[in-house]
Amino acid sequence: MPADLPPLPPLPPIRVGQGFDVHPFSDDPARPLVLGGVTFPEGPGLAGHSDADVVAHAVTDALLGAAGLGDIGQHFPDTDPAWAGADSIELLCRAVADVRAAGWQPQNVDCTVVLETPKLAPHRDAMSGRLSAAVGAPVTIKGKRAEGLGALGRGEGIACFAVALVTGSTP
Ligand SMILES: [Zn+2]
Repeated sequence: MPADLPPLPPLPPIRVGQGFDVHPFSDDPARPLVLGGVTFPEGPGLAGHSDADVVAHAVTDALLGAAGLGDIGQHFPDTDPAWAGADSIELLCRAVADVRAAGWQPQNVDCTVVLETPKLAPHRDAMSGRLSAAVGAPVTIKGKRAEGLGALGRGEGIACFAVALVTGSTP
């Protein structure tokens, strides 16, 4: 590096975290589909112990990973009846409180939801709003089709990838 360049300003501690989740569609046509805390009018819902909100789960795992706090299964085990049918936005809020208590402040989360149906676009702003309110920072949502490939391409379930960035206050 040339010697005449000024030194870079000090950065706060920064961490990134990755989250991934996938749920199959439920056989129960009455089960609601909940994505990003938004109940879709289209069914069926996803199978799972809680409300099976695959987007909220991926966001939770990304934030916990960024803060070095493990994963959603450690915090909210699916063997615990307390979380049966749980509102995953509530679980996300609890995880955010843990992240902040560990000295990390969420800055943003970006998600890619992989699904064939239903269409995400009409609900994207509502999902982003609910997730952003829970995280206390912007959460952005992108929808992506699997182009007919594999189980997701056959419309057997929905997956979500999330990346979170957090900053710390301690040097
Ligand atoms: Zn899940």
